[in-house]
Amino acid sequence: MADLAGAAPELNPAALTPTASELNPVVLRRRLMAWYRGQARTLPWRGTSDSYHIWVSEIMLQQTRVAAVIDHYNEFVRRFPTLVSLALAAEEDVLAAWSGLGYYRRARMLHKAAQFIVLEREGRLPASSAELRTLPGIGEYTAAAIASIAFGEAVAVVDGNVERVILRLTGRADEATAAARAFVRAQAQALVPHARLLSSNLDAQFVSGPISKTRSAGVWDASERIALAASADPTAPAGGDRSHPPASNVAGDHNQAMMELGATVCLPRAPLCLQCPVYALCRTRGEHVTPKRPPQRSLPVACLLDLRKRGTATEVLLERRPADASLMPSMYELPVLPQEAVEGREPVLRLRHSITNTNYYVQVFAPLRLEPSGLTKRSRGEAHPLRQAIPKRSRELHWTRITRLAGLPLTGLARKILHRLHVMDKPKIDLLE
Ligand code: SF4
Repeated sequence: MADLAGAAPELNPAALTPTASELNPVVLRRRLMAWYRGQARTLPWRGTSDSYHIWVSEIMLQQTRVAAVIDHYNEFVRRFPTLVSLALAAEEDVLAAWSGLGYYRRARMLHKAAQFIVLEREGRLPASSAELRTLPGIGEYTAAAIASIAFGEAVAVVDGNVERVILRLTGRADEATAAARAFVRAQAQALVPHARLLSSNLDAQFVSGPISKTRSAGVWDASERIALAASADPTAPAGGDRSHPPASNVAGDHNQAMMELGATVCLPRAPLCLQCPVYALCRTRGEHVTPKRPPQRSLPVACLLDLRKRGTATEVLLERRPADASLMPSMYELPVLPQEAVEGREPVLRLRHSITNTNYYVQVFAPLRLEPSGLTKRSRGEAHPLRQAIPKRSRELHWTRITRLAGLPLTGLARKILHRLHVMDKPKIDLLE
């Protein structure tokens, strides 16, 4: 690999003591933030100082790719623009807005937490990571992210991206031990700037939005100097101003920059070291061994897409999962068919649907012939055997008007199938009953 700043230091495990000075926090922060100012992606939640919106984005980003979150986030905050509007909404409407994002427990917990905040906290979201952790659905990582980004608390956010960056910078092996986790947390925390005091002049220059678009290098340098002065003061409190969002949020910006570096440059399998702003400080420079991920499982799934006409309305047969199901309770999906019921039949759609370590190879069967523009003809009597093949479980079957689908809590797979077959958006269906 080309050498941009001298040869990489030789790895010496004995020398890798967990001290912040190894990483030279001042230099690392300066280089990291200079890069972040110019390279940060413009994301909708980076343009807000609304703590409720930041909270929503952090919950959506749990175990979910940024690209998958953007549209859902925009739609969710359009439907529920304030914490109070979310608290007052019906759970079914919240799940419908979440549909397609997966991990629906997050939506339920978000809804419950909003109701708790309205009832017990006069509608104010807690401003410290310690208090945030008392809310449903908020663990250590999410509490730190909200507290630092929305309220300026100088607490490190350690997600998978940050962990990888720290391990590679320090040359530590990737070990699933409590000591290794503690090492990463300590290193990440030692890097977080503690600035929170700015002059009113500087305050005026800080506005909401991605740092790359709104903040000048001069302002950052000034805030960094104040940050260093504040961090040198052992009596300085760890948190930000709890009454107001911080005018200068160096802690939140630093955390976002670390996550951005891991997400866009220090990639899991092939880090882009030649583009890395902290290359000169890194002990591994692409030589860090990342453990292999467990292999993906593959599972076949067969679904039934059954449609009928009732007057001028078109209805689709949906199955509602039990309220006590461990996965996606009370969500609507297309009825699942046993594999033996579809043997020898040609599906109308094949697709892959991935959830964590499992690839579901989904085949959709319909008693209709498909034309490019949608479903057109059904062979009389063919629906019945397929419908009869739906296992008799405790689930409920519902004929549902397709005009209602957008407002229903559909599973992500059901939504994907109904979109792909143009049932939700442009139904062109001529059915024979
Ligand atoms: Fe080190 Fe390369 Fe990761 Fe930068 S991208 S932190 S140089 S491994």
